[in-house]
Amino acid sequence: MSNFFNVIKGLVFGTNQNNIQENQVIENYNEAETHGICTRCHKTAKIKKYGLCEECFIARKELLNAANPEIYNQDTYIGINQNLDRLLQYNFNKIDIENAEIVEHLSGIEKAFLLYCDFKSVDDFKIAMYWFYQHFIDCNYLISKFVKNGYLEIKYSTVFSKLTSDILKEALKQANLKVSGTKSELAKRIEENFTEEQKSELAKNQGKKFVVTDKGFQEIGKYKPIIANDVDFENNCYSLILENKLDEAYQMMCKYEQNKLVSRGLNCDWNNPPEKKFRINLEKELPFKLPNCMKLYEKDVKATAIYTNIMGSNPRNAVPFFCQRVSANIDRKILEKAFIFLCLYESGALNLNYSDIENLEQEQKRIKNTPADVFKNLSIDDFIKAVNKKFIDSGLNIDTLKYDVLKDGTYNFTYNDYQIGRIKIGKRSSKMQIVTKDLPIWLENLTMDEYTNNIDKWVEYTKELI
Ligand SMILES: [Zn+2]
Repeated sequence: MSNFFNVIKGLVFGTNQNNIQENQVIENYNEAETHGICTRCHKTAKIKKYGLCEECFIARKELLNAANPEIYNQDTYIGINQNLDRLLQYNFNKIDIENAEIVEHLSGIEKAFLLYCDFKSVDDFKIAMYWFYQHFIDCNYLISKFVKNGYLEIKYSTVFSKLTSDILKEALKQANLKVSGTKSELAKRIEENFTEEQKSELAKNQGKKFVVTDKGFQEIGKYKPIIANDVDFENNCYSLILENKLDEAYQMMCKYEQNKLVSRGLNCDWNNPPEKKFRINLEKELPFKLPNCMKLYEKDVKATAIYTNIMGSNPRNAVPFFCQRVSANIDRKILEKAFIFLCLYESGALNLNYSDIENLEQEQKRIKNTPADVFKNLSIDDFIKAVNKKFIDSGLNIDTLKYDVLKDGTYNFTYNDYQIGRIKIGKRSSKMQIVTKDLPIWLENLTMDEYTNNIDKWVEYTKELI
């Protein structure tokens, strides 16, 4: 208090008599003022910029450094990452439940992180870096807070369906029980045949887990976040799209990016984002017909495609997002293909073949019902021979025609180092990729003759390239 009065006195009356004394007073005054609670780790400490304590302030700086490739050389790279490990690490010993705050509700990001903690090992919990880069969380503080508020428990879990199939099979084998079946069947078999003692021993062998409580799940709400790591943002943004308030939804997304420590989009200024044009509109008809199985849910189909697009997310993520919202039983393959198409359409791709999407159901039926002998007659060696022959016949130079085999067994063909197509032949499925200017198309489960005929499209594309 006396420091405060001295400063006021100094401000009002001037302190010309003694400059050194004045500086000291002001320094002390600043110190007293800047002592507070860190916005990230909630420790009481001297507060630096952004409301952060010294340690969190350094962590922030290091994260921003690490996200900036321009400053990198080998030494700084190692140094920065060592520092980050030290500053961000999850450490069970740092969990301080007693001193955590009691809250009424969690923020959207906290809810998403709570869900992320479910069933993670207490002793060995590896937290993905995006939690720090994007949302700059303090994992030890948040976990303490979750436990203190009854959202998260630390215990041996007997929810065996969450264990891996390998662990379940090993446990069944030890107990001389059958080891065949799906994961839920394996878990059920344990549930029904193990004694209480065996069950608790299996649980103990897995080590203690973080387990989200009923109260925790209630707090998270009905929908798990799938595309954004923020439960409230995801629900609110999607609601706006359903109401056809597309510009508002887009602005909301920009704000979400602004609030991240490291935003997505190289050099994109989210304070001043590029204008966004929407092709899909909730109130207008699409220029193509949806597959029959999706027609009933047209509103959610459109909204999901728009949401996935403004979030810059992979169209494949649209599938679990959509399924969660409408809880319909639709063939996942149809949904995946439809959403890839819809997201391409929404992002402005040209020359899309509208009939592709309408016929997805028949296409999927044909793929499912492919007779077994179609696969018997497929030969990658014959296919490669046919490719060589067709390229020679077209007057192309086959010295620059090459292929390599990818990890999953897909053959990747290049001409002059340009990718021109792929093919994968499996025992129960096969597919061939046709590259075009706008998007690659995959043809599935064709006969050997059909695959060979489609090499013409590779030749066509290669001629356009050179
Ligand atoms: Zn802090």
